Amino acid sequence: MEQNEQTAGCPPRGPIAPALLAWFYRHRRSLPFREDPTPYHIWISEIMLQQTRMSAAVPYYLRFMEALPTVQALADCPEDQLAKLWEGLGYYSRMRNLQKAARVICRQYGGQLPASLEELKKLPGIGEYTAGAIASIGFGLPAPAVDGNVLRVFSRLWRDERDISTPAAKKECAARVMAQQPPESAGDFNQALMELGGLVCLPGTPDCAACPLAGLCSSFGTPDAARLPVKAPRPQRRVCPVTVVLAESRGKFLLSRRGKGGLLAGLWQPLLWEEKLDSPVARARLGALGLEPEDWQPLPSARHLFTHVEWRMEGWQCRVKPAPAPEGFVWAGPEEIRQEYALPGAFKVYRARMLGR
Ligand code: SF4
Repeated sequence: MEQNEQTAGCPPRGPIAPALLAWFYRHRRSLPFREDPTPYHIWISEIMLQQTRMSAAVPYYLRFMEALPTVQALADCPEDQLAKLWEGLGYYSRMRNLQKAARVICRQYGGQLPASLEELKKLPGIGEYTAGAIASIGFGLPAPAVDGNVLRVFSRLWRDERDISTPAAKKECAARVMAQQPPESAGDFNQALMELGGLVCLPGTPDCAACPLAGLCSSFGTPDAARLPVKAPRPQRRVCPVTVVLAESRGKFLLSRRGKGGLLAGLWQPLLWEEKLDSPVARARLGALGLEPEDWQPLPSARHLFTHVEWRMEGWQCRVKPAPAPEGFVWAGPEEIRQEYALPGAFKVYRARMLGR
């Protein structure tokens, strides 16, 4: 019991909302979804911002909204166009869930997101955090929106030693947020916390001298400000060797669509095998597809990190004798790759080669 009381920390020295909101209104970044925070805008931006830096996500957001300005447009979007709009953002299950949810919203809610935390959480791809962000920022409802930034800020404010990756710590953090959140400014309060975590209370290097909550924070002036939060290390990723062959004929490259399940489902890729092949075996595999290499150059190696797997890619670029595309493949030139075929960021190095960069 005593141990728990110690590790749960101690509360800040007063309510945080007045100083936090005053700071937010002076320092908040101007962002396209903040200028017009409809529930749809907040939803799309929050999904894009999971695992993606703000500066990288904003151009995607603008392009997405231009192409798909409504939930209905998202629900009706052809799969390849949606994949093209998401190309390079990664974590493609987010994109698929967006469309699944858009279809449910059109079917069950007349194309408008439901103004209810509980109903939002029932939609595909919308978890506690995203539902809280849409409810509070998009609808102005009192709700917590606890992301990594908020967990870090609160663990330092409370000088809390508990592991923030546990469900119990997240639940406790949400309760602490609600105890501090002014109901009339729920969305601004949540955004202010995220902004403080993104600009001031940074991982490893908090700028406590510039923090509006310095006078209230239990970690201020102690080494714990930089050390916290406590977070269990992630399990190691499984390493998967991958052999890539950029097969080219008459300026076009061989592409195939990945299967419907698993990593990068439904997206396009160059010829590859998820195993390490030596040169004679790779050439024999090409032969089995009816392709005859005329030259054979090593490709630069590349690495890509998925949540649980690391791909280590190497292989060859080769010109092959003109031949019809094997079953399940297409020949695609640079312009078609640019316009039509969504190649995930895992193939960034090889995509650049195919585009002649
Ligand atoms: Fe974070 Fe430092 Fe502010 Fe505390 S005083 S909330 S540790 S930036």
